[in-house]
Amino acid sequence: MTRVVVIPGDGIGPSITESTIQIIEATGVPIQWVEAQAGLGAFQSVGDPLPAATVELIRDVKLGLKGPLTTPVGSGFRSVNVALRKEFDLYINLRPAKSFKGVISRYSDIDLVLFRENTEGMYSGVEHYIDAKRNAAESISIVTREGCRRIIRAAFQYAVEHGRKKVTIVHKANILKFTSGTFLEVGREIAAEFPQIASDDKIVDNMAMQLVMNPHQFDVMVTTNLFGDILSDLISGLVGGLGLAPGANIGQDVAIFEAVHGSAPDIAGKNLANPGALLLAGAMLLRHIGHADAAANIEQALADVIAEGRFVTKDLNKESGVGTTEMTRAIIERLK
Ligand code: NAD
Repeated sequence: MTRVVVIPGDGIGPSITESTIQIIEATGVPIQWVEAQAGLGAFQSVGDPLPAATVELIRDVKLGLKGPLTTPVGSGFRSVNVALRKEFDLYINLRPAKSFKGVISRYSDIDLVLFRENTEGMYSGVEHYIDAKRNAAESISIVTREGCRRIIRAAFQYAVEHGRKKVTIVHKANILKFTSGTFLEVGREIAAEFPQIASDDKIVDNMAMQLVMNPHQFDVMVTTNLFGDILSDLISGLVGGLGLAPGANIGQDVAIFEAVHGSAPDIAGKNLANPGALLLAGAMLLRHIGHADAAANIEQALADVIAEGRFVTKDLNKESGVGTTEMTRAIIERLK
């Protein structure tokens, strides 16, 4: 039986985690869920947003399914998500965006995959005020050649393994000549190792506009940490919003699967959260551990429920009177 650490998380986290576990269990894949705490809830109950016991458990089990975690804005403890990515060197943040029939959105046939570097860049955590009165602050973006190499190579390898045609390297090398410049330079070197995959590069601001205007010209994209964080929300917007955007954080030894969205405190505890994003992350987890059929069944059951449009949360259908629990039940019914 495969063991998976499950972190329910904050806000809507516990309800969408419960929903995802129920649906995965309905596929019959034998998983032993081992619960651990992290985030604001852990900070409030044990005084530490990332307890050592949670870190040790993940180190041992090597697989995680994580609900969203609240990070205080502007002050307070630093992001536990960022800490986990650094602790386990989860350098790949894989964020696909795929259209679902029945979801009202600007485009209907999007199938994009974004590879975001997950441990370096503007999220290196090197940030401080430079004067005692806190009138000025600086953040340092650290970009290493090896860090660029491994994420860009992962994107090209994914393209080969999944029959993708093109990889776009996204950067800001016109202005950030050293950090983004290194990323682009390494990107061009790696692209030459994969002649069977087309490649191009785009400056990030142009990329944002092109993604909105004509997303079909893109296939796989690879970029640095901050740009990837922003562009992954953008591509989720192309397919109808954050409610259906999953993500995987993958390193050499450990992989943690999560939704792209946050803890949504505005709708927490109201049975309004769409479980789809975390469920799709759960399907990515199943594929990762060799249960591709169960993953495909979950994706199909979710797609069927969304296409029918009756048992979906309000973010997918404004007229809907049902919530997380009813949507979960409908997906399980479809699986049967
Ligand atoms: P958010 O993603 O939580 O919410 C943005 C908007 O999308 C809100 O209106 C919310 O109601 C809606 N939304 C999000 N998920 C939804 C779902 N499953 N179903 C229906 N609607 C959904 O972003 P935010 O409000 O900027 O952040 C809230 C908290 O989450 C912050 O503390 C932030 O740091 C944290 N956060 C955590 C993660 C993570 O754990 N990976 C990611 C992003 C933000």
